Amino acid sequence: MSARSITVIPGDGIGPDIVDATLKVLDKAGCNFTYEFADAGLAALEKHGELVPASTLELIEKNRVTLKGPLTTPIGEGFTSINVSLRKRFNLYANVRPVLSLKGTQARYDNVDIITIRENTEGMYSGAGQRVTDDGSTAEAMSIITREGAERICEFAYQLARKEGRKKVTAVHKANIMKSTSGLFLKVAREVGERYPDIESEEMIVDATCMKLVMDPSQFDVIVTTNLFGDILSDLCAGLVGGLGLAPGANIGTDAAIFEAVHGSAPDIAGQDLANPTALILGAVQMLEYLGMSDKAARIRDAVRDTIAAGENVTRDLGGNAGTKAFTDAILARL
Ligand code: NAD
Repeated sequence: MSARSITVIPGDGIGPDIVDATLKVLDKAGCNFTYEFADAGLAALEKHGELVPASTLELIEKNRVTLKGPLTTPIGEGFTSINVSLRKRFNLYANVRPVLSLKGTQARYDNVDIITIRENTEGMYSGAGQRVTDDGSTAEAMSIITREGAERICEFAYQLARKEGRKKVTAVHKANIMKSTSGLFLKVAREVGERYPDIESEEMIVDATCMKLVMDPSQFDVIVTTNLFGDILSDLCAGLVGGLGLAPGANIGTDAAIFEAVHGSAPDIAGQDLANPTALILGAVQMLEYLGMSDKAARIRDAVRDTIAAGENVTRDLGGNAGTKAFTDAILARL
């Protein structure tokens, strides 16, 4: 079989190091990909004069599957977030963030296994109606929820739950206060839930969800929610299992999918062989599952889990002394 082509964006800061580690792991597991490299972020600004050059967009479109290192968005006027631009450009409507307790991490819990599915294009982040009055006294922004958008993300959540053998989907909302927007989301979530009698449907108000996640995360399985709540809840979930260095994320749309780590480019530790590549490697595991390569995904996940559990060759953020390269070598040895 000919090798499948993947677009790879090394990114900024620690990006190139953790991308390099991830590609080594994919190759060692025998994934048989060819990689087409593209620039974005600061690296692209310096080379091409823009944050996301047209050639990068073309490659993302062509290969449909992209592995992306973290990108630095320069602070200042005129730079919209690159990640938001990519989500809009490719209609990446589903942000899928799994968190799993790993033995050997300094986390508060050892029984977390939650997938947060965040609607990625609507809600408070739709960017519509942003206005500050001339006298600076009042600011406005518009939250937009459509039936189509809510149905699409809820369907996605239930389909994923079914595919992964999950038992329950919790729709998180604030329909008691945000009656129109969260109300519509909840109404649609209930309708979609009825189509999946094999999966338990639960609904929960967002503030209560935060409390319950912190009290006992083991009661959650799949969470589906709107953009802003999903952004906050998924970081909260990452905190439950030991932080951003372990949290991957997939941005999935109809025409493209981008797999990444949830954390940023970590300029404070860039180029020092200190970065933990786990989050991006687990992002690649999500990519393999998306491509139907579940056996390879499981092998890599097990190798990462066992390396962290052994605790000898782990990076500083996991309580060890190893660098990115030594940690990656330990994973490669297990593969
Ligand atoms: P950050 O996630 O880069 O770093 C926060 C802290 O976590 C830092 O102390 C960093 O050293 C540490 N850290 C992050 N990833 C780590 C890893 N893999 N191993 C070990 N330690 C790790 O967040 P920030 O400093 O707020 O942002 C830096 C830049 O990244 C900004 O330009 C921001 O816009 C960008 N960013 C990009 C993405 C993305 O591309 N998906 C996401 C978030 C932030």
